[in-house]
Amino acid sequence: MRILLTNDDGIEAAGLEALLAVATQFGEVTVVAPHTHQSAQSHAITLTQPLVAHKFCFDAFPAVRAIGLEGHPADCVRLSMRNLLDAPPDLVLSGINAGANVGMNIHYSGTVGAAAEAAMYNVPAVAFSVATPFDKEFQPDMNVAIEPFTTLLATLLDAGIAPGELININLPNQQRHPAPKAPRVCRQSQARVQDTYREEQSDDLGHRFHIGDKFEFDSPSSDTDVEWLRNGHITITPITIDNTDHGELKRFGSLFS
Ligand code: MN
Repeated sequence: MRILLTNDDGIEAAGLEALLAVATQFGEVTVVAPHTHQSAQSHAITLTQPLVAHKFCFDAFPAVRAIGLEGHPADCVRLSMRNLLDAPPDLVLSGINAGANVGMNIHYSGTVGAAAEAAMYNVPAVAFSVATPFDKEFQPDMNVAIEPFTTLLATLLDAGIAPGELININLPNQQRHPAPKAPRVCRQSQARVQDTYREEQSDDLGHRFHIGDKFEFDSPSSDTDVEWLRNGHITITPITIDNTDHGELKRFGSLFS
């Protein structure tokens, strides 16, 4: 199986190397990941700059072909599909992101954006993230995710991931939940995000605002990714790139028929 690996934290991120340890157990891996940190770039692509590709070598995986691309996560997948790969991959894996991608955060996530780009090419894709605590002193160990993510991926591949199917997986905060609880397949929470902006000292260039450190959700509904992850479970959410509101198609359709 040919696997394309990418992320949004950049090619030097610990999470990418941990996912490489997962991916190499399943097939022949090529890494095309952003040259620099690209979190919260969602599905952005680069229009006005060239995409500069740099060769990269992982010390622990010297045989793996790897490229650091000066671009966004979705650029990495697009350029791989069109130019960099000899043949289309059978699977795209994105992550492991440092920080949960659940609820509304899925919309901002470059990790999920890269996987969604793969889905547009009808390639099965899985996005992996690890929740990080607000305690900045605590650094999650990405290697802890290798075993559970390997087991999950084996189960998913055995069952079969359909062409263009997109799966979002999160591991709970290791500080609160050192041993993750059983995986839950659940829907994306629609809870609102309570983030804040700090107003900083103003100068001749204008008022400055900086996004705050806290990024919390309003009370999530039960049986959602936010709720299960908070309770220490691994979450698995199949998502889709179809933005159509199918429920409203008929109602508005009747207005214009
Ligand atoms: Mn990230």
